[in-house]
Amino acid sequence: MTNLKSNSQTGTHFSATYLGRLDDLKQYTFATDDGALSIEGKIFLNPILDLTGAEISINRLGANDSMPFYHKHKDNEEVYIFIGGRGEIQIDGEIIEVSEGTVVRIAPDAVRSWRNCSDQPLFYIVVQVPANQYQGDTISDGILVDGEVKW
Ligand code: ZN
Repeated sequence: MTNLKSNSQTGTHFSATYLGRLDDLKQYTFATDDGALSIEGKIFLNPILDLTGAEISINRLGANDSMPFYHKHKDNEEVYIFIGGRGEIQIDGEIIEVSEGTVVRIAPDAVRSWRNCSDQPLFYIVVQVPANQYQGDTISDGILVDGEVKW
């Protein structure tokens, strides 16, 4: 596995990393400490970027592969953003077709699993945030800063 810290850059108010090309996500494997769970092609950004309000994973699921388990969450809702490939996601037994451009929000208590239904990799991003915590609307937290943009 690539040493992501060596691919990372930090400043006073930012952290950045280079994960490689999407198809190279297969080099990453998420595994639980007890070894009970191992998922190839999954990388969590929280430990790399020191996120403070969310967990985000970038994912590549191989051709015709599927998640071998159902899961749900205690407090967090998830948003699945599909950015390539074709597959299906099931939520409480309801199946939705997904492909590049599909975005699915799932409430914490919903039981979910998903699969790749194609001969090409399925690429997706999962954003996990505490449910019912967001306040405001789309841009109410943004503050315009005076001055011309220079590069
Ligand atoms: Zn989850």
